[in-house]
Amino acid sequence: MNKIAIIGGGSASLFFASFLDANIYEINIYEQKAVGLGRKFLVAGDGGFNLTHSEDINSFIERYTPSAFLRDALQFFNNQRFMLWLHEIGIPTFIGTSKRVYPEKGIKPIKVLNAIHSVLEKNNTLVHFNKTFTGWNEDNDPIFNNNEVVTSDYCIFALGGASWKITGSNGSWLKHFTKELELLILKPRIVHIKLTGKLLLLI
Ligand SMILES: Cc1cc2nc3c(=O)[nH]c(=O)nc-3n(C[C@H](O)[C@H](O)[C@H](O)COP(=O)(O)OP(=O)(O)OC[C@H]3O[C@@H](n4cnc5c(N)ncnc54)[C@H](O)[C@@H]3O)c2cc1C
Repeated sequence: MNKIAIIGGGSASLFFASFLDANIYEINIYEQKAVGLGRKFLVAGDGGFNLTHSEDINSFIERYTPSAFLRDALQFFNNQRFMLWLHEIGIPTFIGTSKRVYPEKGIKPIKVLNAIHSVLEKNNTLVHFNKTFTGWNEDNDPIFNNNEVVTSDYCIFALGGASWKITGSNGSWLKHFTKELELLILKPRIVHIKLTGKLLLLI
């Protein structure tokens, strides 16, 4: 079985892990906080809490800059399929006048988060708390807490930006990436970069 290490336990990590096949992968999430995944997700829920947008997928894709790198992924799993998936895990949605998609009235963010947790339980996702990514060894294996090396077949970074630090998203990981990457990351945009054959960064 292939071992996947997903570093960071926010929304990107949770959704990514939800769609992995437990028959093929041993799924591991490493989160620096002592407890609780999806903390910013819960903060987001205090406001409007839109989960996606219902617009036509072609104009949806154009909202990403650059848009090409996500085109295939978004066409394969589009906003309509995401809404269907939410419905399947017990989170019915509605489309607001702005065309944003919200959980049906009365559904609190914690219920959405718990529904995702149930998916993770079903695919045997292992969650490791108190694990702060602090760099790599010479084999590109991530190091946690300065001295714990974790080996895996694939390593996904989903470490979030540097806002709402109380949720764990403090950007402390930035210094461990190269200068070239730093320049990319400092611009506010979605980043999806393949670092080597087995390292992927999602922020
Ligand atoms: C007030 C507010 C309202 C919002 N409203 C919405 C909304 O309505 N709809 C919407 O789609 N989005 C909304 N957002 C944005 C949404 O919350 C973020 O886009 C989303 O949380 C990003 O997910 P992420 O997984 O990339 O990062 P994060 O959610 O930031 O998660 C990153 C995780 O990585 C962990 N981490 C960081 N560094 C390390 C390290 N070195 N080692 C190990 N772990 C580490 C952090 O502790 C954290 O758990 C809102 C955000 C805020 C603040």
